[in-house]
Amino acid sequence: MNTEKVDVLVIGAGPSGTVAASIIHQAGYSVKIVEKLKFPRFVIGESLLPRSMEALEEAGFIEAIKAKGFQEKYGAKFVKGDEVCDFTFKEQHTPGWTWTWQVTRADFDKTLADTVEAMGVPVAYETTVTDIRFNGSDSVTTVEDVNGNKSQIEARFIVDGSGYGRVIPRLFNLEKASNLQPRKALFAHTKDVRRSMADEPNRITAVVHQPGTWIWIIPFSSGVTSVGFVSDPSFFNSYPGTPEQQYRAMLEAEPNTRERFRDVELVFEPRILESWSATTDKFYGEGFVLTGNVTEFLDPIFSSGVTLACVSAQTAAKLVIRKLKGESVDWEAEYMAPTMQGVNTFRSYVMAWYEGTLDKIFFSKEPQPEVKNQICSVLAGYVWDYSNPFVKNHDTALKRLARTIELTEKIKQDQ
Ligand code: FAD
Repeated sequence: MNTEKVDVLVIGAGPSGTVAASIIHQAGYSVKIVEKLKFPRFVIGESLLPRSMEALEEAGFIEAIKAKGFQEKYGAKFVKGDEVCDFTFKEQHTPGWTWTWQVTRADFDKTLADTVEAMGVPVAYETTVTDIRFNGSDSVTTVEDVNGNKSQIEARFIVDGSGYGRVIPRLFNLEKASNLQPRKALFAHTKDVRRSMADEPNRITAVVHQPGTWIWIIPFSSGVTSVGFVSDPSFFNSYPGTPEQQYRAMLEAEPNTRERFRDVELVFEPRILESWSATTDKFYGEGFVLTGNVTEFLDPIFSSGVTLACVSAQTAAKLVIRKLKGESVDWEAEYMAPTMQGVNTFRSYVMAWYEGTLDKIFFSKEPQPEVKNQICSVLAGYVWDYSNPFVKNHDTALKRLARTIELTEKIKQDQ
């Protein structure tokens, strides 16, 4: 069997794998990426958050992404019936990026992978990790190419950015159930011919269809728009027929999508994804670190996935570099804690969304500008800024605010 040696093996050429590979390569170490599929490949996760730009910038990817002309994104809009709550990233508490992109991931991920390859990082496509043996922090990984040829890669460290593949958690039985309820999505790309400026292509729109059921509308610069329904799996049972018949009936049932998407041409047959939330006990071990979705993926509502993937990869890459230099790294304090801080902040918002707490806040009659700016920073992905009370006290601040709004509105009604 052929054997090659590298300093760092990266599993997966998604955003977390390519960001980590680029930063480690730039520090002068030999890096190789193995990717199971041929690129471009479809993956969902099309709306980015401004915080991801810092990681993409450090990885040296911004210019290559800009050159692709993806749709610029300046905010996020929440709609329920006639009520609208619009967040613009320029109006936020935390200093940082005020914009980002909405991307077709096949093109976006290929851009990142081509860029890192052009920097000098080999990417072996259609090559799947099938086994890993650790000896201390050194490892021997067995990979298999599309023709069934096996080879081995010896590495001083492994970054597992395999996304839904969850390579290391699966090989070493580290899987843990998420505490979030399973949900399902039905989505497609549509030729959005009735899109108008009023539909604001420069932001994601989340439409509350009914409690616990929402719709994402993510316009791309090509005139195509991604539209997806997310709900409890039982919601979809009330719509009979093929996925396309279900999808069209759901678009028709919601006043905010009915006219715009009636009889719209679909770019592909609607797809289904479900039960995506997953996690593990520990995001690191001797000789490896988990990044991106392999750490924990929560829910699509706040578009946190790619941002958490890029930021965890950025943080992990710097620690891997220190480890390779022979410096000591406190993985618990320096990696697990900040990664969980980001995940747990978003978890509070995801739970508050499905419990209806955020509904009260987003659609309150008299929103307070300062509070809105603080929440906007979370929605922009700045979930490590402790000067923001909606980050620092993420688990209590939203509930307290919703209760205050409820009381104030009740007092006003009673007067
Ligand atoms: P991925 O992008 O999944 O990349 C992992 C790569 O590893 C893949 O290319 C895969 O082929 C490869 N791989 C897997 N197994 C192996 C193996 N054995 N050997 C070699 N390679 C392997 N996020 C957002 O930011 N915005 C959104 O709007 C959004 N919407 C979403 C909607 C839904 C319904 C869902 C379920 C998720 C959504 N997400 C969204 C989340 C987003 O999809 C992920 O968080 C993001 O893709 C994670 O990036 P990653 O680099 O960790 O993994």
